[in-house]
Amino acid sequence: MLRINNLCVNYGMLEAVKDVSMVVPEGKVVSLLGANGSGKSTILKTVSGLKAPRQGEILFEDTRVDGMETEAIVDFGISQIPEGRRLFPYMTVLENLNLGAYVRSSKAEVDKVRAEVFERFPMLKKRSKVRASSMSGGEQELLAVARGLMSRPRMLLMDEPCQGLSPIMVKEIGKTIRALKESGITILLVEHNVSIALGVADHVYILRNGRIVFEGSPDAFSADEFTKRIYLAG
Ligand code: ATP
Repeated sequence: MLRINNLCVNYGMLEAVKDVSMVVPEGKVVSLLGANGSGKSTILKTVSGLKAPRQGEILFEDTRVDGMETEAIVDFGISQIPEGRRLFPYMTVLENLNLGAYVRSSKAEVDKVRAEVFERFPMLKKRSKVRASSMSGGEQELLAVARGLMSRPRMLLMDEPCQGLSPIMVKEIGKTIRALKESGITILLVEHNVSIALGVADHVYILRNGRIVFEGSPDAFSADEFTKRIYLAG
């Protein structure tokens, strides 16, 4: 579904992503792991159109999307759940959700998608009039995921959804990722929590200093002591 070929991304002179090639097959969860600063978020931002590549190409269902505006990429069916959630803290759950709706949707369409989202996350329906800032970190993360679903994506880019969450909420996020996959949504996941990242993934890529240093199944990663050492060494 998503194919990244020989991607290079710079911040000025800094080469943050170096010749990265990856594939995310339809209906699968692919986890991207790596130490702080290895380039994971930069890859997600480049796929979602927030950052332009220096070189390489990004194909979504065989259409080149690299360098396109974020809005056009959302049109194609890709939605990013940003690191740190980026909710509007003084707005309610409902208002935050509405802001995630596809801009050209009619009110009836927005109502329909919101009803589907509430069915998936009944807790958000119950708390729809509550301010985002008064919810727990885990609830806020679920709201960020729900807001990302408001544009009816076929692919989600998730940037560290488990960051700062309690073990119970980490489990909940893991369950949510599995349920999203079961409903046919393809996921590219960046996550520091190795057990969740490996637990939900069909395929794993490890990034180090902007380069892919391992690619394989979660089992192959767990069995590869050398790669684990490199990864853990950061
Ligand atoms: P983390 O796990 O800490 O989120 P990451 O693997 O997602 O890290 P990136 O955020 O993609 O890594 O950063 C890759 C490199 O690019 C790092 O060296 C970082 O300092 C640098 N970088 C990231 N954003 C910017 C920016 N806006 N301007 C300049 N350099 C940046």
